[in-house]
Amino acid sequence: MGKKRRPAPRKEKVKKKKKAQRKPILSVGEDGTIVRSNVQCPRCGPGFYMAQHYDRRTCGNCSFTQFLTKDGNVRSRGSRRTRQRRPRRSEQYRR
Ligand SMILES: [Zn+2]
Repeated sequence: MGKKRRPAPRKEKVKKKKKAQRKPILSVGEDGTIVRSNVQCPRCGPGFYMAQHYDRRTCGNCSFTQFLTKDGNVRSRGSRRTRQRRPRRSEQYRR
C-alpha cells in the first residue's frame, strides 16, 4: 500500500502590489506653460530627460549620471558608452 497523499496546501491569493506613484513628466503650470519635472541631459541636449532617482539622476540615452550629494551639490560621472573606444586591430590596418 502506498502512502496516502495529503492534499496540497491551498495557495493564498497573491495580492497585487500597488504601483509606485510617479511624478508626471509634464505638467501645466498656473500660467498655462508646460513645466517639466525632469532635468535635461547636458550631454544629449534638449529632448533627453534624466531619470530622477533617490540619490542620482541618470540619462537613459548616454547613461550620464549625476550624483546628488548631501550638501545639495551635484557630482557627475561619465559613462563607458560615450567614451571613445580604441579601434580594433582589424580596423587599424585597413586602407
Ligand atoms: Zn544623455
